[in-house]
Amino acid sequence: MQLSSKKRIVIKIGSALLVDREAGLKEEWLNSLCDDIAKLVENGAQVLLVSSGAIALGRNVLNLPNRALKLDESQAAAAVGQIELGRAWAQALSNQSLVAGQILLTLNDTEGGAGRRTYLNARDTIERLLDLNAIPVVNENDSIATSEIRYGDNDRLAARVATMMNADLLILLSDIDGLYTAPPNGNPDAKLVSVVDDITPEIEAMAGSAGSELSRGGMVTKVEAAKIATRAGTDMVITSGTPNHPIAALQAGEPATLFKALPTSGSARKKWISGQLQTEGEVVLDDGAANALQKGKSLLPAGVVSVSGSFSRGDVVTLKSKSGAILGQGLVGYDMSEADLIKGAKSSDLENLLGYAGRPALIHRDDMALNPSHN
Ligand code: GLU
Repeated sequence: MQLSSKKRIVIKIGSALLVDREAGLKEEWLNSLCDDIAKLVENGAQVLLVSSGAIALGRNVLNLPNRALKLDESQAAAAVGQIELGRAWAQALSNQSLVAGQILLTLNDTEGGAGRRTYLNARDTIERLLDLNAIPVVNENDSIATSEIRYGDNDRLAARVATMMNADLLILLSDIDGLYTAPPNGNPDAKLVSVVDDITPEIEAMAGSAGSELSRGGMVTKVEAAKIATRAGTDMVITSGTPNHPIAALQAGEPATLFKALPTSGSARKKWISGQLQTEGEVVLDDGAANALQKGKSLLPAGVVSVSGSFSRGDVVTLKSKSGAILGQGLVGYDMSEADLIKGAKSSDLENLLGYAGRPALIHRDDMALNPSHN
C-alpha cells in the first residue's frame, strides 16, 4: 500500500503487540516500529500514535493474578503501566532522534459537544506538538475513567483522534491482518476483504457480533472505528502489526483491509462547525476575501478588516462581510490577540509580526462552514 500521499497518519498499537504476558515489553518490535515511523517522518508525514498497553504493562509490574481484572485493579494497573508505557515510547522514539509527547484523553474529550473546551485544548495541544515535530502518544486516561475500560476502546479512541486532527489515514495495527468474509479460524473459504468502499450491513455482519469480539480480534470495534473515520473523511487500514517493521511491511504489500473515506464526508465536519450556536468572536472580511471564500479558498489574514470578541485558536467564530451580513462560521487558526496583530497583513509579513512562522490561513477552508446563500 502506498502511503506517500498521506500527510497526517495516526497509528494505533494494540496491547498484545507491545506487551508479552511473560516477558513484558517487546522492545525489539517497538524499535522496529519506531524505525518505520522515523522513515514516514523523513518523507514529510506527521505521525500520531494511539498506544494501548498501560494495563498490560502495569499488571506485570504489580504481579496481578492471571484472570480478568476488576475495574479498580485495571485502573491501578493503568496508573503503574502508563509510566512504563510513556517511558518505553520516549526511549524508542529518541533512538530515532524523535521526541514523544504524552496525551491522556477520555473519550468525551474527543466528542466536541459538552467536552468542547477539553476537545479544543486537546486538539490545540496535539496540533502544537506536531508543529514542534514531536510525536503525540495518546492513550485513554484509564486510571480515572468513569466507565468500564473495554477491550477495543482504543480503536474508537484512535478513530476520534484521527477525525479530530483531520488525519488522512488511520492505521490499526492488530493481531489480525484485516476483515475476513467469515471467521478465518477453521474456515478455509474465508477471504480477506482488501477494500471496503462503504460499510454496508453485509460488512458489519462479517465483523461478527459483540459476543464473538475477543476471538475475532475485536473486529466489531474496528468496524465501528472505521465508520467514525470514513464518515469524517479519513481512510482507515487494518493490518497485522505482528511482524517487525509492520509499517514497512504494509508498504511492501502485506495483506490489509482499506476502508475508504466517504466522498461526502467533509460535510460532517462542516455540519459540526455550523451547528455551534455560541461563537467566541467575529471576523469581518473585505469583499475580495468574501468572494474568495465562495470559490472555496481559505481565509488569509490579508482579507481581514477587523476582529472582535475573545477567542483562542480552535474556537468557533462568526464570519461577517463589511456590510454586516453573516457569511458563516469557522474554527479560527489564531488567538484573538494574534489575529488582531496580523489582520490585513500579507503572508510574507506574518513571521515579522508574530515573531514565529505562523500558518498562512486565519481560517482554513476545511475548518469553515459558509451559509447556504454564500456557498
Ligand atoms: N487503554 C488500555 C491500555 O492502555 C487499552 C484499551 C484497548 O486496548 O482498547 O491498556
